[in-house]
Amino acid sequence: MQDPDQQCAICRGKDGALCRTFGLGSRDALGLSCQACGDYEVTRTARITWLDNHRLNIRERAALSHLIRNMNRDSGRPLLDTHWLEHFISEARLPNPANQAINLIRVIGDYQAETGEGYFIDGVCDATLVGSFNQTMFDQLLAELTKKQLVVHSGENVTITNPRGNGVLSGRRTVLTLDGWERYESERRGKENGSYGFIAMKFSDPQLEALVSGHIKPGLKETLNIDIVDLRNVSRAGVIDNILREQIRDASFVLVDLTHDNSGAYWEAGYAEGLGKPVIYLCERTKFDTAKTHFDTNHCTTVIWTVGDEAAFVAELSATIRRSLSLFK
Ligand SMILES: [Zn+2]
Repeated sequence: MQDPDQQCAICRGKDGALCRTFGLGSRDALGLSCQACGDYEVTRTARITWLDNHRLNIRERAALSHLIRNMNRDSGRPLLDTHWLEHFISEARLPNPANQAINLIRVIGDYQAETGEGYFIDGVCDATLVGSFNQTMFDQLLAELTKKQLVVHSGENVTITNPRGNGVLSGRRTVLTLDGWERYESERRGKENGSYGFIAMKFSDPQLEALVSGHIKPGLKETLNIDIVDLRNVSRAGVIDNILREQIRDASFVLVDLTHDNSGAYWEAGYAEGLGKPVIYLCERTKFDTAKTHFDTNHCTTVIWTVGDEAAFVAELSATIRRSLSLFK
């Protein structure tokens, strides 16, 4: 059941994006597949109250396209109902030009790293993916990256079947230059980002919560002037796994509390270690003494805490972080 000539409810066919609709059985919702925004489902009420009128301006629509295109890339097709739109429209933003440039470098670099081939740019789809306002601004961004010799267009002019949409694409493939790869790598490791530490832990354990909010966070702020954030300190739109990954990637170091054998914390530790971040493990004394042989991490730096002796713990942790950071600078 396909209708080839519908207008996308979000971008409204801006820059010539084509859109198909598909039915979703008995559900009171419609599926759309837009060349720019990607695939999404939208309820009838959401269309009427939010999308089929002038309630959203062109900037909000562009931010929404960008958000949905990225959700597609990471976690499949979202269902837009009124609740979803209320939540995300207030938070949906287009990245600034510097971050758009980094997004494009990442898209090209990821593709090259996976396939060993240059990336075929599809302006309609990629403008939305990297968060450009429109096609014209995306073209300028690409021209700028070319001028700065971060990307280069290589090989012959060819026409291929569009791997990410309908129709064909013509032109040349785009690859990163050596300088482009340097930017890609440093961005991937989060070197160009702000200074904070991330803590991975089990939530809602009273002892641990008290330690973190009463001692670790204020203590490290005082001694090192560093903020410690956890997953709950972020309130922005996006897929939770991605926010987590970005938060770890951009942190200067990662603290991981292993007291509760929390599997999420282990995963986060592995991810951070893989990125080459300094990782410091924390564990409560009794737990550490009884179960230390089970820790795969017992060759790593572990700072032990005891209820009642928090001041000594924070002092040791602070010294350990200082050592780790100067090692990695
Ligand atoms: Zn669209």
